[in-house]
Amino acid sequence: MNECIFCSIVHDQRPERIHFEDGEVMAFDDIHPKAPVHVLVIPKAHIPSIAHLEANHSSVIAKLIYAAKHIAAGRGLKGYKLVFNVGREGGQMVDHLHLHLLGGWERPEDWRKGFQI
Ligand code: AMP
Ligand code: ZN
Repeated sequence: MNECIFCSIVHDQRPERIHFEDGEVMAFDDIHPKAPVHVLVIPKAHIPSIAHLEANHSSVIAKLIYAAKHIAAGRGLKGYKLVFNVGREGGQMVDHLHLHLLGGWERPEDWRKGFQI
């Protein structure tokens, strides 16, 4: 059934470095980082995107954001970006919900960089 790359990461090919994990959420490095720190925070359950959210998902979304905040603090990031790409037209390539945590730029001229850099 399961050809979802992020479901395989959760269930089979676990990453070397897991930044956060509990029963519902997991966080690992993006394989093609777009910032000095680029972590993906995902629900373990397969939810395709923000567009597929249902009312009973609100607590897992809060957990994604809280996990990102916790990881950012642990990495000493004073500022960072949290990004959900939603749908192809929103730049989403992997159809398993994920929150991008991006940061770690040192030069002030880089701080306003967006997702495309
Ligand atoms: P998005 O474009 O929002 O769907 O982002 C998907 C992200 O997943 C991209 O930044 C990819 O670099 C990343 N990615 C794809 N496959 C893997 C993988 N096996 N492990 C870690 N990150 C991945
Ligand atoms: Zn999945």
